[in-house]
Amino acid sequence: MAELVQHYLDRIRAEQIELRDGALASYIPELSTVDPESFGLSLSTSDGYVYESGDTAVEFTIQSISKPFTYALALELIGQDAVDAKIGVEPSGEAFNEISVDNVTKTPKNAMINAGAIAAVSLVPGAGADDRFDRILEFYSACAGRRLHVDMDVYGSEKATGNRNRAIAYMLASFGVLDDDPDEVLDVYFRQCSVRVTSTDLARMATTLARGGCNPMTGRRVSGAKVVRRTLSVMVTCGMYDATGDWVSAVGMPAKSGVGGGIVAVLPGQLGIGVYSPRLDARGNSVRGVEVCRNLSSQLGLHFLSVTRESSSTLRAVFEVSPGVRVYEVHGDLLFAGAEQVLRTAERDRDSYDVAVLDVTRVDDINDAARAMLTGMRANLAAAGKEAYLVDPDGRVVPADRRHEYDAIVFCTLEEAVEAARQWGAS
Ligand code: GLN
Repeated sequence: MAELVQHYLDRIRAEQIELRDGALASYIPELSTVDPESFGLSLSTSDGYVYESGDTAVEFTIQSISKPFTYALALELIGQDAVDAKIGVEPSGEAFNEISVDNVTKTPKNAMINAGAIAAVSLVPGAGADDRFDRILEFYSACAGRRLHVDMDVYGSEKATGNRNRAIAYMLASFGVLDDDPDEVLDVYFRQCSVRVTSTDLARMATTLARGGCNPMTGRRVSGAKVVRRTLSVMVTCGMYDATGDWVSAVGMPAKSGVGGGIVAVLPGQLGIGVYSPRLDARGNSVRGVEVCRNLSSQLGLHFLSVTRESSSTLRAVFEVSPGVRVYEVHGDLLFAGAEQVLRTAERDRDSYDVAVLDVTRVDDINDAARAMLTGMRANLAAAGKEAYLVDPDGRVVPADRRHEYDAIVFCTLEEAVEAARQWGAS
């Protein structure tokens, strides 16, 4: 199986190897010195297994792929409200280096363009530039699962030529978005853009996001799931700048590109992708990188909005074990829609039993909405003079330490529940 996946990646990469369109970024002089032929593709599964094809050990600078990670760090450290007060979440449809703010709020439109990214840097708490940057680098390293370093040549090169970003930072300061010295904030921004990564680092960083903030390789939780959800949302709508609409239609994964030639793409819950090829299109996105992602998505069916089949039934079986006692066997992952189906079925049948026994032994995963719905069934049925029991040996639906939160009667085995149901009926 692993060989088959390796073969897919090798083929998808080989299909683009002759593609030599685009040009190296040259507005940061040092970026034009890299080997234009380098081409690496890495895919990390959600359990941390990495497939690599081509030049996956070549280091390049992360550039704008740093933006979602610094944004996530700011959200993590100061909270969403404080971040939202300074940076919007609307796609700008503009180039990454547009000197712009939202007309009404006078804040950057989102954190994926330079204006928002520079603001995000200023929101990471720190006593001075070094302290702030240490936190940022530590966070990127935790996402990648190894210690990352700065390319001092690229940093120096961008610092020497970054007048456009200076214009943006001073504009932000004039609107009160930056509270700190703009040059100090820019220094950190230039350093973060110059962090060296490989395509495999990017795949690992992507998978940390795909796993809701938990690095699958180290097992370390680096960020909360809500922060990741917000970050991925902004990547979906703004990650590929003015090519975002095309990207979401064709590829369908939250993603971010950088002028160093990297692209990171995340398939939530499933995998992370890192690609490196430094020739860029007019929008600053890697030409081969975009094509590889398009083909990965279409050939491996990775579009996050593809509806492959109607959600399978969460009700595995329904049967009567004795007069007045009906068992509903629930299985799989249970979210709102699945729980609704179970509730509706059980409520529809309620004239045909006294006690409904929900056997959730085979439920894999459940969220709080579904939990509240299944446990709320008891109160609902009480109005009709009926009872509901749960068979939940592993505490999937009602965790042992949360029993007090729910008005539920829980058994460890179906036999115990059925016996109790019989007695309830007889009483
Ligand atoms: N350091 C680059 C800049 O600020 C990052 C831009 C990018 O990767 N799109 O111009």
